[in-house]
Amino acid sequence: MTSAIAKKKHAKYFQRILQLVPSRLAMFDRSRLTFAFFAISGLDILNCLDEMSHDEQLQAIEWIYRLQVSDSGYRSGFEPSTTIPKEAPNYQCGHLAMTYTGLATLLILGDDLSRVDRKSLIKGISACQNPDGSFTATRVGCESDMRFLYCACCVSAILDDWSGINKQKAIDYILKSISYDGAMGQGPGLESHGGSTFCAVASLFLMGELHNVLSKEQLNRLRHWCLMRQDGGFQGRPGKPADTCYSFWIGATLQLLGVSHLSDPECNRKFVLTTQNTLIGGFAKFEISQADTDPLHTYLGLSGLSLLGEADLQAMNAALNISQRAYNRLQDIHKRWRSKSEHS
Ligand SMILES: [Zn+2]
Repeated sequence: MTSAIAKKKHAKYFQRILQLVPSRLAMFDRSRLTFAFFAISGLDILNCLDEMSHDEQLQAIEWIYRLQVSDSGYRSGFEPSTTIPKEAPNYQCGHLAMTYTGLATLLILGDDLSRVDRKSLIKGISACQNPDGSFTATRVGCESDMRFLYCACCVSAILDDWSGINKQKAIDYILKSISYDGAMGQGPGLESHGGSTFCAVASLFLMGELHNVLSKEQLNRLRHWCLMRQDGGFQGRPGKPADTCYSFWIGATLQLLGVSHLSDPECNRKFVLTTQNTLIGGFAKFEISQADTDPLHTYLGLSGLSLLGEADLQAMNAALNISQRAYNRLQDIHKRWRSKSEHS
């Protein structure tokens, strides 16, 4: 097993995803923007964003803005792909995960978000919150759970505007989703899971409420649950095998809870590196001899390695799941927005 990250191969892998998605992934057209986020944010974390030419980056920015559905009230947001033509406006509808990954990708590409219709997107978020505080992805009937609550928090944090969320209801939903073992499920009464626990903890962190609404004991039980998920790499639930993506989901949660130093980074790193394909790039969920690579595990594998402080990867902002460099750019944008609103 190699102990190095095959950086160049992974950069090529992401470039291929941007050019041509393999036919076995064609069903993911409905989340094409998320794939673009994995590839572009992945190149950013690899410090290889300049492998996209300036023109390619501008084209990507234009494509993402074409996905913005604005001034459509409850349907406002970003769509997954341009498959639905603009000539059929009644079928266009934002999706919270696409709105989050669209805005994040614009930031990573160096866009200043000046063409984002912030007011309209906030209306779109607000329309997706249910009376119990959870969020649906769209307003046109679909599942609701912790994932979309997290996406709503990310969009609010990026837009520096929380008026689209009833925070108290969102917090109540998170608190009701704490399971008997101290971690969070997708909703009340559901089994604790590494992904939903990240979404819940990161949402509270983004709201600035992590240490206000959880007691010391609740925080310690959460820390304990997350630390106990390490089995070489990290597993998503007790009794499950370690899986590459949880190096990010659990790794980021541990960082937000301030205890990543209590895990074993070397064991985790060793596991994640067994899941990389060193010939053609990409990471799989399990050891590479047992599973195929895919864009999600490739992105989250690299993000998990970045959280371990890997020297030649960009540092991550754990709560928003983007590079710290992109996050710093966001803070500059917020400063400009705030001084503009003070002077208007
Ligand atoms: Zn996974």
